Amino acid sequence: MTTVPQVRKLLTTIPGPKSEAILKRRSEAVSSALGMAIPIVVERAGGGIIVDVDGNAIIDMGAGIAVVNVGNSAKRVVENVQAQVEAFTHTCFMVAPYLGYIEVCEALNRLTPGTHSKKSILLNSGAEAVENAVKIARNYTKRQAVVVFEHAYHGRTNLTMAMTAKNMPYKEGFGPFTPEVYRMPMAYPMRWPGGPEKCADEALDFVIHKMEKELGGKNIAAIVIEPIQGEGGFIVPPKGFLPGLAKFATDNGIIFIADEVQTGFARTGDMFASNDENVVPDIIAMAKGIAGGLPLSAVTGRAEIMDAVHGSGLGGTYGGSPVACAAALGAIATIEEDNLCKAAVEIGKIISTSLNAMKAKYSIIGEVRGRGAMQAIEFVLPGGIEPHPTAVGAIVKFCQLEGVLVLSAGTYGNVIRLLPPLVMPLDLLHEALEVLDRAIASV
Ligand SMILES: *Cc1c(COP(=O)(O)O)cnc(C)c1O
Repeated sequence: MTTVPQVRKLLTTIPGPKSEAILKRRSEAVSSALGMAIPIVVERAGGGIIVDVDGNAIIDMGAGIAVVNVGNSAKRVVENVQAQVEAFTHTCFMVAPYLGYIEVCEALNRLTPGTHSKKSILLNSGAEAVENAVKIARNYTKRQAVVVFEHAYHGRTNLTMAMTAKNMPYKEGFGPFTPEVYRMPMAYPMRWPGGPEKCADEALDFVIHKMEKELGGKNIAAIVIEPIQGEGGFIVPPKGFLPGLAKFATDNGIIFIADEVQTGFARTGDMFASNDENVVPDIIAMAKGIAGGLPLSAVTGRAEIMDAVHGSGLGGTYGGSPVACAAALGAIATIEEDNLCKAAVEIGKIISTSLNAMKAKYSIIGEVRGRGAMQAIEFVLPGGIEPHPTAVGAIVKFCQLEGVLVLSAGTYGNVIRLLPPLVMPLDLLHEALEVLDRAIASV
């Protein structure tokens, strides 16, 4: 168990000399194709703090991209993992099954939206979960077309690259992409041509019209959407859009797939973001927050859909590793027993109050949006909605030098997203927001 003191502390500039020396080795040994949000080398992390090799203690407002919702090295996760590692590390679930995998599936069948009969499979990454969700939907419907949205992010494998919207950096030079993926306009209230009030109705009409006229409802296997778009910039569709899509799917025999890889596991103040409008996806893809930092992902869906695929049609060597399953059971117990949904709501109120106060002060803030502990600021040139990505670069840098890690996002690179661990001490949260305020004032 890590016992990391919950205080921000800077002993050196960022990066310090020890980090700098190791980062030099990084650039010599590791492909330069990998990004780096903050130039430090981590030694330990826990609660709301990351400690680097120079002894700097940095407030973590990113949670490893919504992964350590329960915090780093959470007590139940560490205990479960240690016990599992000593018992056995791998048999391959498809070779010789074990209880942990089954218990994770039982938990997901219970926790995901809807009271219908469900079944699950476990995999390694978010992209792999999305790929499997699409495979299952195609196999079940015997159709091929997959509908996705502008600003979507679904991963970096070949199929999920095709489903992801943004070319640079995710797709540039990596084609050809898989066919039968069709992109629809997203209900993005701040940028909807008819204005935010008309966004829900107009976007839904437009998308349904396109699906009917350009694809034909009976040819569509699946509609795949993030209930709140993550990498796209925490775009929250207006009320009515998701239920409208889900209804169109049901009416046309289309599988409605919620990609809750980033929104899941208490992040938005609900176990899953689909619950907000009582949307019941036919299939839900999960990963990130599922296992307290160990690599695991899952697909849960209606039992008849999940069982339609032929025997041995799904799987993977490592999918549902016993160690990752043990971690997931620890993470899920932490979320439920420590009521981290409530913590996410509380964190969200503090962040959105603070960000809205900043919006009143700074004309470069175009919008503050989000739900629960998933909040963002979209930066614009004053007086309009022209994206302002250079402000984001400067603000992220300012925060780093002050010992606060914040992440950017957005198709236009003009969004700062805040997604702290849900165990973030509230005094640290206030402190991080105060640094962010000064950072925005500085640009
Ligand atoms: C991160 C993410 C993915 C991909 O997950 P990986 O584990 O990186 O493959 C897919 N969908 C969404 C919504 C994500 O945020």
